[in-house]
Amino acid sequence: MIERIRHAASEAFPGIEMTLTVDGRNIVTVQGECESWNQLVDVGHFLAKQEGVKNVVNEMTVKGLVIPKKDYSQAKADGEAKGVVKETDVVIVGAGVIGCGIARTLAKYDMNVTVVEMSDDVCTGASKANNGNIHPGMAVKPGTLKAKLNIEGNRMYQQWADELNFALDWCGCVAVVTDERLMKGAEMTYKIAVMNGVHEPEVFYSAERALEIEPKLAHRNLDIKGGAFFPSFGQVESYEVVIALAENAADNGVEFMFNTTVADVLREDGQVQGVVTNKGIIKAKHVINCAGIYADEISAMAGDKCYTIHGRKGTLAILDRHSEPEFDRVTMIYDGSHLIQEKKNAESKGGAMCVTTEHQSLLGPSATEVPDKEDNTTTIDDLAYAMGTNLNAATGYKDIIKTFCGVRPADYSEDFVIEMSPITHGFINVGAIQSPGLASAPAIAKMVEEIWLEDVKAAGCEPAVKEDYNPYREARVEFRHMSREEQDQLIAQDPRYGRIICRCEQITEGEILDAINSSVVPTSVDAIKRRTRAGMGRCQGGFCQPKVLEILARELGKEWTEIHLKDAGSRILFEETRQAAKEGGDK
Ligand SMILES: Cc1cc2nc3c(=O)[nH]c(=O)nc-3n(C[C@H](O)[C@H](O)[C@H](O)COP(=O)(O)OP(=O)(O)OC[C@H]3O[C@@H](n4cnc5c(N)ncnc54)[C@H](O)[C@@H]3O)c2cc1C
Repeated sequence: MIERIRHAASEAFPGIEMTLTVDGRNIVTVQGECESWNQLVDVGHFLAKQEGVKNVVNEMTVKGLVIPKKDYSQAKADGEAKGVVKETDVVIVGAGVIGCGIARTLAKYDMNVTVVEMSDDVCTGASKANNGNIHPGMAVKPGTLKAKLNIEGNRMYQQWADELNFALDWCGCVAVVTDERLMKGAEMTYKIAVMNGVHEPEVFYSAERALEIEPKLAHRNLDIKGGAFFPSFGQVESYEVVIALAENAADNGVEFMFNTTVADVLREDGQVQGVVTNKGIIKAKHVINCAGIYADEISAMAGDKCYTIHGRKGTLAILDRHSEPEFDRVTMIYDGSHLIQEKKNAESKGGAMCVTTEHQSLLGPSATEVPDKEDNTTTIDDLAYAMGTNLNAATGYKDIIKTFCGVRPADYSEDFVIEMSPITHGFINVGAIQSPGLASAPAIAKMVEEIWLEDVKAAGCEPAVKEDYNPYREARVEFRHMSREEQDQLIAQDPRYGRIICRCEQITEGEILDAINSSVVPTSVDAIKRRTRAGMGRCQGGFCQPKVLEILARELGKEWTEIHLKDAGSRILFEETRQAAKEGGDK
């Protein structure tokens, strides 16, 4: 096998010297030097596509490029010096939608689950910077794990939303074509949807049907030839989902440790023993790796180098509320000009103009391979790509209130890696969870629960479900969505709901206090933003940030200077400058 692959690789990349090895699991490891980052990524994809290859560990370098690498040595030394600080049954690494989804699922069992997160809060990685689409499953390759879990996850979302009380809008997604030659694309997507088992997909051949599905297309006077419709396309605010999962997990006894970086995985005789973190050693019987963009590095710490993650950045733009979204469904209009756009995004989603559950237009994302896993910069090209998905000619760059980026944790097989490690028993990999990871999250949590259960049962244990397990999370007050009468009643009960802190989004002090008093306590300004939307409006926190900071400091018993924007290092205030304040007077 290796000779065949070597030959194919030397023909495809004649100028590049590569050292290739393959292990018993058909994982190919490649070393050598490339001319550019894109070429390095191309080599990885090429090798992964060779017959029989399970996945690729890409250790190539790029001429003249320093590829940023995370250094875990100080965190490891700090943790080892502190020694064992905790013993638990399961450690989950990473508090994104995958880690929190699994934590919430395992919370029903009578055992100790600890989620370890290097950031200051839940939902700070890819889970906070995505489109929030609950994809139906028509864009995933049939036969892949991704396809299976996307379909299952999509079907499980309503139950998550009902139990956890987050907004979920089954808005549906429609693609129309104005050029008959493009109907082949619509038919192909429909066929893939049928093959994958998507719920009620449809292909249609008339403008009338298109207008029935999305009446607002009538404003466009298009010569529609047909298209495809997927009613099971849903929309959520992903941070709402993650926070709901985390709070429900915490309500059921899961412990969250923030600002805690896993720097090594402990193992003995092929069995996982726990993790070393900067806060000390946590002993555990199972370690579940949900570290997103760093999952390959955590897997390597467990002695299981079986995939490499290459970050694929996506840039999104969100438009001001005053610019009403043009359509109610996610609508794509294909004329010849969209073909190039589709090709560029072949490995990720094509991007679209989405309507958030808060009724704002969300545009993008782009798909750019980046060597730095933490590259969150917005470039002109990526933003132009995102804005290219805007179909509403009445809106444009002037309406953008926020651009943001997320980095997809793609591996070279472009599939999810979910398995009990065959190298380190007790270590469960949940890696390479790129899109549609959000849509697949409930099914991923269920799959991991099954892997864990099977292992525990094989060891002769029958895990008991807690008698007081409660899958429900109460809805929080959302002042902005209440009628005037409801608002008045609420204010009469508690006047703090009558004090507007964020004017753009109409967020009250009462809602901020509700968030602070929840089971996963927010400690930074951005953490409050994710829970309440304070700072998400047109002024982006220009007016409310100081007030949020003041409330946080007051409620958490901290100094103003101790409240950060997000992680350590993102300080907002450094010192008191006015003499009166220094002397303890009025700040
Ligand atoms: C632009 C973009 C658009 C997308 N759109 C969609 C979409 O519409 N629908 C969809 O289904 N999917 C979408 N996705 C994919 C989806 O966002 C991801 O699949 C999903 O969020 C992955 O969740 P996660 O929990 O695995 O990763 P993350 O959310 O990144 O969480 C991983 C966590 O691990 C932590 N961590 C890492 N290393 C360590 C360590 N050493 N110690 C402790 N903690 C650590 C990180 O801080 C992070 O919080 C999109 C992704 C992007 C980037």
